[in-house]
Amino acid sequence: MLFPPVCGGCGKAGARWCLDCQGRVPLIAEPFCEKCGIPVRKAGLCEKCKSKPPVYRVMRSWAVFDSPVQNALHTIKYRRNVGLADSIANQMVEFVRSLYWNIDAVIPVPLGRKRLKERGYNQVGLVARPLSYELDLEYAPQALWKSRETRSQVGLTVSQRGENVLNAYQADPSVVKRKSILLMDDVATTGSTILACTDALLSAGALEVYVLTIARALSQQDLSRV
Ligand SMILES: [Zn+2]
Ligand SMILES: [Zn+2]
Repeated sequence: MLFPPVCGGCGKAGARWCLDCQGRVPLIAEPFCEKCGIPVRKAGLCEKCKSKPPVYRVMRSWAVFDSPVQNALHTIKYRRNVGLADSIANQMVEFVRSLYWNIDAVIPVPLGRKRLKERGYNQVGLVARPLSYELDLEYAPQALWKSRETRSQVGLTVSQRGENVLNAYQADPSVVKRKSILLMDDVATTGSTILACTDALLSAGALEVYVLTIARALSQQDLSRV
């Protein structure tokens, strides 16, 4: 190769995702909420899930939204780095297997029509597609779409985010009916988008929805950035 690949985590030449970065992935350590997966002090449910249980079955994230995963996601999102997305999917396979989720199909959180046209691709799909192949699961990105445009969630409060995406998604019953769905997103923040997508999938007859995100924003600083 004329140009050796550059690591999407640290920028070093040699591999798309180097061993150093692989070893530095900030995993979410136990104990975490059994439902939404955020770190808690004591095993069980977090306060939010106790007072208002989310409609999805369970949500888990592979890593904390921090370097080198944060850098990798940025590169996948803005530079369409397919090779790096493949490497990340590869890294996630064992994690997903270890969850023992009973899943029929994988669906990425869709972009709105306008954003998709600007960017040309859905960055979540770049990871969700190879992951579904590795897990030998149906990949059905066409089964969930955004039915109206929404404003960016950046800078909105939790309740504003919820309102912004309320009823903004729709799913195809002919694909999702009576199926157990793995809904996938790149970064989970407040979960508003994920809840809106879950609502759409369940309304279309999905049996249950499991949620997987590549990373999880845990600090207040993260929330204002994603
Ligand atoms: Zn690296
Ligand atoms: Zn929770």
